[in-house]
Amino acid sequence: MKPSSSAQRDHPCLYPCGRPLLEFPLPVRLIVLGATGSIGTQTLDLVKRNPDKFQVVAVSCRSRVPDLVRLLEDLASVCPDHDPPLVAVTDPEAHAAAAALPGIGKRLLAAGPAGLVEAVTGAPGAHCLVNGLVGAIGLEPTLAAAERGLRIALANKESLVVGGDLVAEAVVAGGAEILPVDSEHSAIAQCLSGRTEEEIGCLILTASGGPFRETSAADLARVTLEQILNHPTWKMGPKITVDSATLMNKGLEVIEAHHLFGVPYDRIEVVVHPGSIVHSLVEFVDGALLAQLGTPDMRIPLQYAICGEKHWPLEMGRLDLLKTGPLLFEAPDPVRFPCLRLAREAGAAGGAAPIVLNAANEVAVTALLDGRIRFGDIPHIIEDSLAADAPGEVNDLATALAVDNQARRTATGHIDRRSSSGE
Ligand code: MG
Repeated sequence: MKPSSSAQRDHPCLYPCGRPLLEFPLPVRLIVLGATGSIGTQTLDLVKRNPDKFQVVAVSCRSRVPDLVRLLEDLASVCPDHDPPLVAVTDPEAHAAAAALPGIGKRLLAAGPAGLVEAVTGAPGAHCLVNGLVGAIGLEPTLAAAERGLRIALANKESLVVGGDLVAEAVVAGGAEILPVDSEHSAIAQCLSGRTEEEIGCLILTASGGPFRETSAADLARVTLEQILNHPTWKMGPKITVDSATLMNKGLEVIEAHHLFGVPYDRIEVVVHPGSIVHSLVEFVDGALLAQLGTPDMRIPLQYAICGEKHWPLEMGRLDLLKTGPLLFEAPDPVRFPCLRLAREAGAAGGAAPIVLNAANEVAVTALLDGRIRFGDIPHIIEDSLAADAPGEVNDLATALAVDNQARRTATGHIDRRSSSGE
């Protein structure tokens, strides 16, 4: 008899579960987008630790050119045999500044998002894209890498939230593969090693609960930006740290998991697990559960993805089970953290809804970081944007980008009205 999970499957498994992975000669040649961010710097750290196994052939940053120059000098001092990488800088002013630098000028690609795509299509002999970009800007480079048939070590969950179906088509057409970097999805991938998709019963994503797990609804209304940015277990960039505090990060991860593993939304659960020791679990169709545990350090899932899902040596702090204490699991609170519900509903609605959800959230988080709105405003702005813009089919990139643009304008309008009315 066919397992029930396979009968309920309405979506392809994008992750190459039970299928052979691409093989590359060493060193694996990496394109690192978002090189000055948290994922990017940790990727460069892995390259410096293993210059015989990894090489960087292209990098990008948004505006932090001095940081990028320092990182590249550092890399060159450890890897003197590697050719200097191509460089993309998306911010126009920072791009002009980079063009004037003698060391970078001749390796500099186009300004703006076009440079990111150029890095993916033009980097010589590239094997693997490490997509560490923040936000929907990560979609086009992911599509370009899929069309080129690369390994895609995906940290940019928005690629799948905004363009999951488009990415799935491009991965099949280009013969590419997507290996997750997000720690929860990497945990699931590790649990699925040697398994087939028919064996998957349900996925259980763990959430740290963020800094406000125990904060009352009344106190949530008064939290400061400093408190929001003080994540209890993971050290990450500001956007994802805010998303972790609202639980939107987990909501985006539910959508990401749906696209990656082809599992329906009603079989993707979220449990709050403070401490971030168990990174996620798979329940198989016979009821057996597998979990992946480890210290909360992104270099473990990063290396697992870029090397093609092998457990290579990695010198870092080990998890001491005798010191971790009890492992707690609790249900997320849908009243204090409505973003998780909004994301689930938008994911299940499909089409334009997840694009609007993501765009409104990006705009709201930027407004929060700029001090224009309060923490509790974020779900209202997203909900209002979904009510205004969500319906509609999305079958191509141009439509996805148009929906994204419109949703940003709508969300900005909601924020302007809130700021001017002092709501
Ligand atoms: Mg994660």
